[in-house]
Amino acid sequence: MSVFEHSEFDGHEHVAFYQDKVTGLKAIIAVHNSNLGNALGGCRMWPYASDEEALKDVLRLSKGMTYKAAMAGLKQGGGKAVIMGDPRTEKTPDKMLAMGKFIDSLSGKYISAEDSGLTVDDLKLMGKQTAHVSGIQAKYHINSEPADGNPAPSTAYGVYVGLKTTVKHAMNSELEGVKVAIQGLGHVGMRLAKHLHKQGARLYVTDIHPENIEKAVSEFSAIAVNPEDIYDVDVDVFAPCAMGGILDAENIARLKVKVIAGAANNQLAKEAFGQLLADKGILYAPDYVINAGGIIDIFHQSISSSDKALREHVNKISDTLLEIYRRAEIQGIAANIVANQIAEERFG
Ligand code: NAD
Repeated sequence: MSVFEHSEFDGHEHVAFYQDKVTGLKAIIAVHNSNLGNALGGCRMWPYASDEEALKDVLRLSKGMTYKAAMAGLKQGGGKAVIMGDPRTEKTPDKMLAMGKFIDSLSGKYISAEDSGLTVDDLKLMGKQTAHVSGIQAKYHINSEPADGNPAPSTAYGVYVGLKTTVKHAMNSELEGVKVAIQGLGHVGMRLAKHLHKQGARLYVTDIHPENIEKAVSEFSAIAVNPEDIYDVDVDVFAPCAMGGILDAENIARLKVKVIAGAANNQLAKEAFGQLLADKGILYAPDYVINAGGIIDIFHQSISSSDKALREHVNKISDTLLEIYRRAEIQGIAANIVANQIAEERFG
């Protein structure tokens, strides 16, 4: 397995591999860039089919965190950790403690947070071995909702603020009466639905779990849509809040919307599809910019801050999006490419 020649290597500063024979832990930590500060990023546990697959994932994700942190105005670099194994069957408290030791061995160069396959309780176990974990305890709140360290309330609020700004820019409209299709009613999507409903938006919702759809129908007067039909509904906004890679050529051809603004990571199946959206007259809110509320929340939990400072920081997602849209218009290029350019200017 080649590391320095890897297609996703992209000048990573630090890649560390760890094996703990006693607990069976196998993990990788990647720090992409720390020009702006120590690297912050989630730790994911996943049943990777091979070491190669785990390496590819951690390199790709840690680079993404550098861009996300830079666009969120954080003095943090980008990093990520992956644990190889099925979180449902192979996760043990001992492995979490061993992971804490691994994180600690980097002396704060990498600060860990929660990602797929791990819970706040897992992070608490890691935190017994290292001070370099964040998102364990919520000291500050974006709203009155009690939170346990999961940053979804801040992510949802940031997506709501960014969606509102994008609609205003693309359609010169407030949210009242605007039709929004939400794909995925999980931690973020359901909260986004609540914010939008309060502002008078008309919701079209889907999920693979019917009970989530039923909840949105009863609480927010939403219209239920089958998961496979969500790209065809005649609405103004598409808000992807489930999985990545959904904006491929086929689905883009089906969309009738003017705006795409949602929480899912890596929405574009290929970077080049950003231009396809622009050519179709769809304004795309770059995913890692609009969904940065969570990382902003985790950052504020790790410093001495306040509810107000957290909220004001998340509100800045609007300014960043407007800067992107204005530059995209002047330069005649897609919003996702402009976002990458601005991030590189900030951390480069
Ligand atoms: P979640 O797992 O709580 O919710 C995802 C929802 O999507 C679930 O209800 C699931 O049933 C549904 N879903 C899955 N496949 C679907 C399909 N094919 N069609 C329709 N619905 C489907 O996750 P979340 O925390 O709400 O995050 C949503 C997205 O936002 C993810 O891509 C995540 O990576 C991204 N994100 C989340 C945060 C955060 O703070 N939680 C931060 C940044 C980015």
